[in-house]
Amino acid sequence: MSIYSQFLRTFILPIGSRLAGYGDFLPYLQQLEQSQWWSPEQIRALQDAKLRRLIAHVYDHVPFYRQVMDERGLTPADIQTVDDLVKLPIVDKKVLTKYYDTTLRDHSIPRKHLIHATSSGSTAERLHYWTTKAQKAKKWAGLFRWWEMVGYEFGDSYVTFQLAPNQGFKNWPLVGQLEWLLLRHHWLSAQEMTDDVLARYIEDLRSWQPKLFRSYASTVYYLARRMNERGLQVTIPAILTTGETLTDHMRETIEQAFAPGRVFNEYGGDGMQIAAECEMHRGLHINAETYIVEIIKDGKRASEGELGEVVLTNLEATATPFIRYNIHDVAALTWEPCQCGRGLPRLSHLEGRLTDMFVTSDGHWLTVHQFTAFFAKLHAVKAFQVIQKAVDLIVIKLVVDDRFQPSDEKRIVETFRRYMGPNTRFELQFVDEIPVSPVGKRRFFISEVIQGAPNDVV
Ligand SMILES: [Zn+2]
Repeated sequence: MSIYSQFLRTFILPIGSRLAGYGDFLPYLQQLEQSQWWSPEQIRALQDAKLRRLIAHVYDHVPFYRQVMDERGLTPADIQTVDDLVKLPIVDKKVLTKYYDTTLRDHSIPRKHLIHATSSGSTAERLHYWTTKAQKAKKWAGLFRWWEMVGYEFGDSYVTFQLAPNQGFKNWPLVGQLEWLLLRHHWLSAQEMTDDVLARYIEDLRSWQPKLFRSYASTVYYLARRMNERGLQVTIPAILTTGETLTDHMRETIEQAFAPGRVFNEYGGDGMQIAAECEMHRGLHINAETYIVEIIKDGKRASEGELGEVVLTNLEATATPFIRYNIHDVAALTWEPCQCGRGLPRLSHLEGRLTDMFVTSDGHWLTVHQFTAFFAKLHAVKAFQVIQKAVDLIVIKLVVDDRFQPSDEKRIVETFRRYMGPNTRFELQFVDEIPVSPVGKRRFFISEVIQGAPNDVV
């Protein structure tokens, strides 16, 4: 570790994190830096111990869980290990938002210490929940562990590429500027990308020499595509993609623009930093000291490697407990050892948001993975977005240039019909631009049909 990094960790970050409104994250980060190298057995034992502590606490202080457990004839002694979790109900965004301020609140925490939080995720419906300074600090520790895993240390130059810069110090703009200066944090706007802007970005990146570049997957993919078209390249040691599905085609495109083998996918949602890739790129390591990940298929635990819905238990949250929270993403889990030596389990596959997937009339899931390479071969298509309006109605929005032929239209419809079934109706719309979502994501697939699996929810 560099002397500058040590200086930041010892003096600046503990003060800065308090000023920014969360607790000091360094003690928890130091724990995570150690425990990631533990064996899977040690990590499981830690999860079990934290789970027992969590359940005993919510039984005493969160009326929702007192009632649920009493009704089921359970006491905290009945939940000893992660396997016992199945005795408790699965909840989701709707349940938390409905009860977070009444029965799903930790009544042992004084109200003045509760911090209101919302998360939009990728659906219109917002999640509301309570958090605390201590809980926020643990969230940041989880995030920074992922950054360190791909080679970053505090003090290294890094770039965020998004619509608006993160305002850590809303009431203290000068402190915010100082933080950016000390942490060598730069921001590039993902708002517009004309040729002039692109040229300026390349110049900035070359002069800043960032160690880390963090962005939504689709946004950096779009930037990389523009760079590749113009034969531009800037070497950056780590590109962290967040927020949405990263397909193989997107990864290859980003690597071509920045550096082979240096794209790392990070997965979080609803205020949680859940998993990220290590240098082996064999799935995403789970922040297992903080979250239990269960994979649920048809109401039951899936076997290792089998795809299902991601159900999370936050072992460090009680303000609003996240116990068996269905985040409506789809992934598969494995505890097989990784060659990097970390004992943390992995998401061996991450298919992404359920609302970024389509469900066919015979119940199969389709992901954008199956279509990005297909669209990349259609050179006349500059951008696309596919919206499932009903199980049998697909709207395809296309931005095309004058090379687009009626035969291309036919190929697109035929390709989708093969996956979606012969009775599917298609509507093609030619548009000037695909709008970005309010948070700056460019979504390729939007399903207005999938709302999660209602059978699994209390
Ligand atoms: Zn690994």
